Amino acid sequence: MFNKILIANRGEIALRIIRTCKEMDILTVAVYSTADKESLHVRFADEAVCIGPPASTDSYLSIPKIMAAVEITNADAVHPGYGFLAENADFAEVCQQYGIKFIGPTPGMIRKMGDKITAKETMIKAGVPVVPGSDGLVKDVIQGKIISKEIGYPVIIKATAGGGGKGMRIVTEESKFEEMWDSARREAKSSFGNDGIYIEKYVVEPRHIEFQIIGDQYGKVVHLSERDCTIQRRHQKLLEECPSPFMTEELRTKMGEAAIKAGSSINYEGVGTVEFLVDKYRNFYFMEMNTRIQVEHPVTEEVIDLDLIKEQIKVAAGDPISGHNYFPQMHAIECRINAEDPYNNFRPSPGKINGFHSAKGHGVRVDTHVYAGYVVPPYYDSMISKLICRAQTREECITKMRRALDEFIIEGIHTTIPFHRQLMENQDFIDGNFNTGFMDTFVLKKPE
Ligand code: ADP
Repeated sequence: MFNKILIANRGEIALRIIRTCKEMDILTVAVYSTADKESLHVRFADEAVCIGPPASTDSYLSIPKIMAAVEITNADAVHPGYGFLAENADFAEVCQQYGIKFIGPTPGMIRKMGDKITAKETMIKAGVPVVPGSDGLVKDVIQGKIISKEIGYPVIIKATAGGGGKGMRIVTEESKFEEMWDSARREAKSSFGNDGIYIEKYVVEPRHIEFQIIGDQYGKVVHLSERDCTIQRRHQKLLEECPSPFMTEELRTKMGEAAIKAGSSINYEGVGTVEFLVDKYRNFYFMEMNTRIQVEHPVTEEVIDLDLIKEQIKVAAGDPISGHNYFPQMHAIECRINAEDPYNNFRPSPGKINGFHSAKGHGVRVDTHVYAGYVVPPYYDSMISKLICRAQTREECITKMRRALDEFIIEGIHTTIPFHRQLMENQDFIDGNFNTGFMDTFVLKKPE
């Protein structure tokens, strides 16, 4: 087992990893930018190294600075968390070259899945259903229009380097194609430095259902059931749950098998997520694979009662996995609490938290790095907390979530708590009757 793990991340996930390391008797090193000096991950790690100014490119995304921190602290492994360098194959390669274990898959596996077109091609070969679309990159508007006509509108233009919903445009008719093509390309170029574009059939009124998988170094891959991430805003997840209210035993068997096939086709090592779109007839299509721990992993932890970070570290250290799939024993829902103003188009709301009272009680879990007096910096992702509830049934879980949201108090900044509170009263949400377009028609009531 590792002696000391450096966590190349910040916020709640850095703290989450430190917790598991402590329970496993592994020493921890936090890295932080000057904007995060007062963050809890810095306080709770055994050692902490400042790696630069607030801008992520000069701190959390700087491979030389992180490797220098690894060297001076003598860490023997790096946990990348999610975001930042978690899916950066070059970083994983540098770790490998220096004899430091990157807790995640190999650089080759990250590369195969990081580029969405390559990933789709790999899935087609493995016999996993994918969304119909262009055969690889589309070179220009003319070719794009021909392909779109062939597959039929609506189509979705996507960036091969895509992530976080960026570089994606839905096109409903040919006359709008060129405009959407240009803006998708521009966004892809500025977000990823890569304006490679491909086209997919736009699956109408789909659900986003993903499967958690884990693979060991000996070729074994199992699944840990699904997470439903259909409640999204601008292609970004707001709430996740397991089981999916849309799931049947038959569908779980089929999708689970496809997810394992996806992982096995590249001998996947580590925890990963295979994302699918599911249409109303329960046809499912591979969308992409994330080769890291995900924000919403606690949902799975709560329903199958397993510490996924611990499993991830064990697999990285060479332990074999148990070899069976895992199925939900409970219902769990996670609400992402963002420092955003839901009444003002979810505008970011950084600043000082004057008052903080965490939701508590049976079946309630809060993963967060913030506290009263903490200043939410404006430089990073706006997610400041995850509220996870679990109960025997979905209905009880929603009731618990309402109660937990009511007692979760964050003062001084705006948060998405009022949005989630109203979501829990929405009849369509309660009935499990929704698709990824849910937020297009959701009307938030302003307080009197
Ligand atoms: P990213 O990596 O940027 O998050 P994804 O490929 O995971 O992008 O897609 C994010 C979301 O965009 C999906 O959850 C879904 O809501 C929507 N989406 C992506 N592709 C399609 C498609 N072909 N049809 C319908 N919706 C799609």
